[in-house]
Amino acid sequence: MTSAKKLSLPPGITVSRQDKTYVISHINMGEIGGVTLSETTHGDTQLQPYLTIDTADNKAVIAFIAQQMTDALIMDNALHSPQRSAVRPEHLPEGVQAIESQLFPCSQCNEIIARLIFVTEINTARELHEMANKFELEAFVSTYPIWLIGAPDSDDDNIAKHLTLQIAPAKGDVYYEHPDIMNIRLIKLDLEHCQGNDKPLQTHKDLH
Ligand SMILES: [Zn+2]
Repeated sequence: MTSAKKLSLPPGITVSRQDKTYVISHINMGEIGGVTLSETTHGDTQLQPYLTIDTADNKAVIAFIAQQMTDALIMDNALHSPQRSAVRPEHLPEGVQAIESQLFPCSQCNEIIARLIFVTEINTARELHEMANKFELEAFVSTYPIWLIGAPDSDDDNIAKHLTLQIAPAKGDVYYEHPDIMNIRLIKLDLEHCQGNDKPLQTHKDLH
């Protein structure tokens, strides 16, 4: 993560770093929220924005700053770990207690293309929606899709479908899905990610 000095800040807003947290303060209100940096089990840095004073204005300010930090992080990742390869989820982890999440980088450009958050102790749609609310701010600022993965409906990995809820870029509905289907989706996201940067395919103008 590069320094907070490069951030463009709205009037009256300051950012100060305290260990792994960038505290965001308003000149009159004091601390309104911040962004905490943490590492995933795979060594990727992730941003966790939070709100201390929950107003729409403050939410917009924190989202605005978190967005800039996300952009900086993507640049850092691209510059410092160009050799990093995409991690494929062969199996979704079982019995994970802490909230574990996995970021998936594009195999071409290394930008993050998706994030899975494992909350495998959750086995009802209602609880999964409640968990989604806790990630509302992160979902709001995310530049890539995020899914919550809940409990499996069977002990047999071959057939087990997991409670699944997409929370970014838009919140979806809870459904059950086998990890293979998610894998196919992640592979498709990877394949499609850098295609948008390519020149459009040449039409067959030489054929006449
Ligand atoms: Zn890419």
